[in-house]
Amino acid sequence: MKILVIEDESKTARFLKKGLSEAGFVVDVASDGLEGLHLAQEVDFDLLILDVMLPGIDGWEVLTRLRQASQRTPVLFLTARDAVHERVRGFELGADDYLVKPFAFSELLARVRSLLRRVPPRPQETIRMADLEIDLLRHRATRAGHRLDLTTKEFLLLSLLARRAGEVLSRTLIAEAVWDMNFDSDTNVVDVNVRRLRSKVDEPFPLKLIHTVRGAGYVLECEQ
Ligand code: CA
Repeated sequence: MKILVIEDESKTARFLKKGLSEAGFVVDVASDGLEGLHLAQEVDFDLLILDVMLPGIDGWEVLTRLRQASQRTPVLFLTARDAVHERVRGFELGADDYLVKPFAFSELLARVRSLLRRVPPRPQETIRMADLEIDLLRHRATRAGHRLDLTTKEFLLLSLLARRAGEVLSRTLIAEAVWDMNFDSDTNVVDVNVRRLRSKVDEPFPLKLIHTVRGAGYVLECEQ
């Protein structure tokens, strides 16, 4: 687990680095806001410990810019003042927890461990379109509640079309994604498999979902 400490007070930074390293973490230290922001964007950290009062740009600004860039790494911020408005501001900006200086190292370690234990948001598990339902985790697809008997490749093909529903996917793109074939390969295999997929997904049902776009490829969409 990698932690970035953004803290300008060298004594505190050393103390944090030493303690966290002893607890088994890999620790990097940045001593000003810009350096910290840069490191946080370049390196994949599991957690940031961010001091509020920093030279260059302050901790609020670092946090704001990170969240604006859709950086979701958990942030524990350190504030010298136990002012309610500071905490509120931190949470509004997307901090995950805070600690008021001075703090006991054991307390910091407990917060760090708790933040790292939090489960990240689950990835998308089910895609639905009309009466088609694709369970990406269990590799199962149903239409109108009936299980579709698909091969592994057919399932991959269907999930690819569904993940990018409404978008016309070329035969080359499909061949690369599903069969790992390169650009020059014969993409006829795509047509054959789309035909088989259609016979299972669309033929038995009145509403057709897989459409051919001449000269372009295939698209999964619900045309009314
Ligand atoms: Ca400071």
